Amino acid sequence: MKKQKVIIIGAGLCGLYTAFLLQKKGMEVLLLEANTRIGGRIKTITGTTAVTMEMGATWFGNQHSQLLEVLRSLEIPYFKQHTQGISLFETMSFVPPQKFEISDSEEPSFRIEGGTETLIKRLISEIGIQNIKTNTKITVIKEENNHLIVTDSDGKSYSADKVISTIPPNLLVNSVVFEPNLPENFTQLAKKTHTWMGESIKFAVEYKTPFWKQNNYSGTLFSQASIIQEMYDHSTADNSGFALKGFLNGGTAVLSMEERKEKVIAQLTTFFGPEAKDYVAYFENVWRKEPLTFQPYEQLVLAHQNNGHSLFKKPFQNGKLYVSGAETATQNPGYMDGAIAAAKTIALEF
Ligand SMILES: Cc1cc2nc3c(=O)[nH]c(=O)nc-3n(C[C@H](O)[C@H](O)[C@H](O)COP(=O)(O)OP(=O)(O)OC[C@H]3O[C@@H](n4cnc5c(N)ncnc54)[C@H](O)[C@@H]3O)c2cc1C
Repeated sequence: MKKQKVIIIGAGLCGLYTAFLLQKKGMEVLLLEANTRIGGRIKTITGTTAVTMEMGATWFGNQHSQLLEVLRSLEIPYFKQHTQGISLFETMSFVPPQKFEISDSEEPSFRIEGGTETLIKRLISEIGIQNIKTNTKITVIKEENNHLIVTDSDGKSYSADKVISTIPPNLLVNSVVFEPNLPENFTQLAKKTHTWMGESIKFAVEYKTPFWKQNNYSGTLFSQASIIQEMYDHSTADNSGFALKGFLNGGTAVLSMEERKEKVIAQLTTFFGPEAKDYVAYFENVWRKEPLTFQPYEQLVLAHQNNGHSLFKKPFQNGKLYVSGAETATQNPGYMDGAIAAAKTIALEF
């Protein structure tokens, strides 16, 4: 019997894990990715020291059972986020931050050893890089007889029995043309479906030494008053590389990188002392400026709004087109766990 040919659009975690599952079912799978980079909202960068820094997905917990199962089955090690020592909470700019300690009995969060990209690299090697085509931005999905034809921005077309899109729903309906059109109620729903972390700014500051830990600070910081809103120690699992990493106030997207960097280093210096000025490098990722992730909404959409909606369960184009991705999952939608859960749900249909 002829193998079913499946095209998966988007080589983020959901697309990669879907490909992995479908290959195991004996299907011929081709992944088409618009970016030159594989991983989507998982993006690990390596500094000039031994540290890896997450510009995208980082943490997970015991409640993320589908992700944990995948990590265990692929034998990918993970470790507990460091939280020991004094943590800081700044409520107002004109009073010193409050100090507190995080109890060891609190539910831990985990990080993947070697960076979240370890999972992406592993899936790539399982799937085979020859089955992933990067630099291929899909702009049209058309039904033609028993097939779907997808066309990229260079006009090149690919034919498949079935197509699975893992493009975040709001971006999908704003960047891809469907022939015939998708139902109007679905298009409207997708436009009001939040893309998790699409508005966020991630930053990391690489250091030669973990001076904050040496001064008994955990590296954990929450602020309602300064540019860094949330931050954690980002040392490697084996304590050979050191960084502080977290989220900046989203409103500072209007500033330049230099302006943000200056404010970050000033805040770290105020809280941890002059050693904070002696950094190796500063990195950041303004996700709302990533056109392959974020598309402005037509109206205000709240975090996780419409994630996991029942309309995402229904295929289109006479059962040949599935809309997937982390935001469509019913379990932990928007998260890595949701990306895995969505992949498993779609794979059950094949
Ligand atoms: C800053 C940040 C922090 C996060 N932190 C966490 C965390 O700590 N824990 C957690 O669990 N999750 C976190 N997440 C969420 C997590 O990254 C996502 O749940 C997960 O990576 C989504 O995977 P996905 O494959 O569904 O989507 P994506 O990773 O968005 O993949 C979609 C892919 O489609 C591609 N694409 C887009 N348009 C086209 C097109 N027209 N043609 C072809 N390809 C296209 C994109 O380039 C991308 O590779 C974070 C996300 C961000 C941005």
